[in-house]
Amino acid sequence: MLDGIELTSGYDVGVDRLRADVRIVLPFSPEFGVFGGDEAQAGGLRWALLERVAQVRGVCACAHGLVGLVVCPGECTRLFDHGMMWVPVGEGAYPKPFLLAHTYGYGPEYRSELDGYARAWGLDVVVDGGGLAGDGWYSGSTTSVRVWAADQVNLWPLERDLALLLTAYPVRWPDEIVERIGREPLL
Ligand SMILES: [Zn+2]
Repeated sequence: MLDGIELTSGYDVGVDRLRADVRIVLPFSPEFGVFGGDEAQAGGLRWALLERVAQVRGVCACAHGLVGLVVCPGECTRLFDHGMMWVPVGEGAYPKPFLLAHTYGYGPEYRSELDGYARAWGLDVVVDGGGLAGDGWYSGSTTSVRVWAADQVNLWPLERDLALLLTAYPVRWPDEIVERIGREPLL
């Protein structure tokens, strides 16, 4: 799908350090990668380019990550199979980080636990957003779960840090590549 497209040069602004332990990895960085095999890698890369999001590495993939913790002090990451933190970096996009997970264990019990967790933290939840063509790129046999802080007024520590960083160092998105990918058939 991405044959012949050079993603590693010309776009990386070279600023991916947020703190000593937290980094933003752009989809056109050689370090970019998601969980899963070749199809998931291709699907995740395509999704990230079209969604204009970058990975946030170095924080735990749960609500504690949104408050900036590197390690989850509890067990909530078990709710978020293959979970990764992402941040929108497209021009004009408000940098609202979110967690995207792909779970094999989706069912009523899981959903009720997830809803309780989201309420406790004030998070919004989107399940199976766009199917395989959207958040569900990992695999058709998983269910995608996207959570983020619904509060539009108060910024969580990670949001505040990311907003400052992206304002100070705007990222030029490879629009020409995104346009080409958008015209190609889905996996
Ligand atoms: Zn946690």
